[in-house]
Amino acid sequence: AVMVGRRVKSRRKWRGVVEILKELEEACDTPVGRLRQVVDAVAVEMHAGLASEGGSKLKMLLTFVHHLPIGTEKGTYYALHLGGTYFRILRVLLGGERSYLDVQDVERHPIPSHLMNSTSEVLFNFLAFSLERFIEKEGNGSSSSQRELAFTFSFPVKHSSISSGALIKWTKGFEISEMVGKDVAECLQGALNRRSLDMHVAALVNDTVGALSLGYYHDPDTVVAVVFGTGSNACYLERTDAIIKSQGLLTTSGSMVVNMEWGNFWSSHLPRTSYDIDLDAESSNPNDMGFEKMIGGLYLGDIVRRVILRMSQVSDIFGTTLSMLSEPYVLRTNSVSAMHEDDTPELQEVARILKDLGVSDVPLKVRKLVVKICDVVTRRAGRLAAAGIAGILKKIGRDGSGGITSVRSRSETQMQKRTVVAVEGGLYMNYTMFREYMEEALVEILGEEVSQYVVVKAMEDGSSIGSALLVASLQS
Ligand code: BGC
Repeated sequence: AVMVGRRVKSRRKWRGVVEILKELEEACDTPVGRLRQVVDAVAVEMHAGLASEGGSKLKMLLTFVHHLPIGTEKGTYYALHLGGTYFRILRVLLGGERSYLDVQDVERHPIPSHLMNSTSEVLFNFLAFSLERFIEKEGNGSSSSQRELAFTFSFPVKHSSISSGALIKWTKGFEISEMVGKDVAECLQGALNRRSLDMHVAALVNDTVGALSLGYYHDPDTVVAVVFGTGSNACYLERTDAIIKSQGLLTTSGSMVVNMEWGNFWSSHLPRTSYDIDLDAESSNPNDMGFEKMIGGLYLGDIVRRVILRMSQVSDIFGTTLSMLSEPYVLRTNSVSAMHEDDTPELQEVARILKDLGVSDVPLKVRKLVVKICDVVTRRAGRLAAAGIAGILKKIGRDGSGGITSVRSRSETQMQKRTVVAVEGGLYMNYTMFREYMEEALVEILGEEVSQYVVVKAMEDGSSIGSALLVASLQS
């Protein structure tokens, strides 16, 4: 009788787990109809954000980038990229033609976590120190003239020119409040001067804009760039006359790159779960960056963790001993991708990662369940990411809604042109399933025919290399 009782109990426990999974699947569902609603909402919000300051949750920030590098640039340039998880320093040598782009030295380091909530002085001194070390390695071989530096800064900035702008707010867990409102390029230049480094911060560049620059350098059909990394964002080339909020200010050229800051996009059509709500409430920036919290690499792992934690509260299938599951952000997205893509028959990678979290000896059935959770969360992210891209294409008339044949009577913008979307970021580069879900959904939304005109191109290190190219293009 005791045995039977136990079996009934454990079955009941599974029932609770199955319900949680079912609820999750329903809440994360993204049929193409729903994605299309998100596409429309993105396009509408883009218009609103361009019409007036504060007109939308999409900030649609001016970058003052009117011209992108074209391939004839020459010289040696540097880039420093402060991302969400890594910082990079590199040097490029350009020989005056596209094929002559030599990335001579690249350093990539994790950002020491204490810097994320230190002071601006500590942060910038650290960056200047790292640059100094980088330059010291060059020895005497390189020129003694002032070095031109691009600062790729992966946070929202209100620009006053291409080389100056104030931090609007931190994202991705950074919390240095005294820095908000300060000129970011000035902070770096000051730290460089304090170390007597003869370097000039020639441009302040969002990472998406860097990726767009590298994309454009190789292929002038590139008009959109997206970053899927720790955070997420997109920029694109807009006609100046469509940037209504800046009328009069922008007269130098016909177009400007607009940094959308799409991480802050919001729409009631987004499939939100209770896990998203809790994650947001407990984050360092509540009520902010809602879209980023569904698709950004910083957050996917934590959504998965929250689902597993919830299951472990109604059931003992994850064991009864205390695990680390209640600790925010212990489950990193790279572990999620490793579990999701575990192709060993017994799901040994899943077992190993769970064990690291203090959850040992879970049977195969439970490991499969974990893979399923990763799949649901990442599938939603990939599909929403695709809807974001399609929204931009819609706004600029490249989604095929004007018909795909070049009918003479139609205006040029209605014709389908080849459109390249430059994509960069660790989530996209390293998480195959995310990438596949994104690309599959893009075809679903646009249709087979139109998608043939839309090329998604990976830009490895595009954010930093592209920013250096942008600085080069300013000199020529
Ligand atoms: C920032 C953006 C950045 C994106 C990708 C977001 O959190 O607000 O400026 O482009 O992350 O790194």
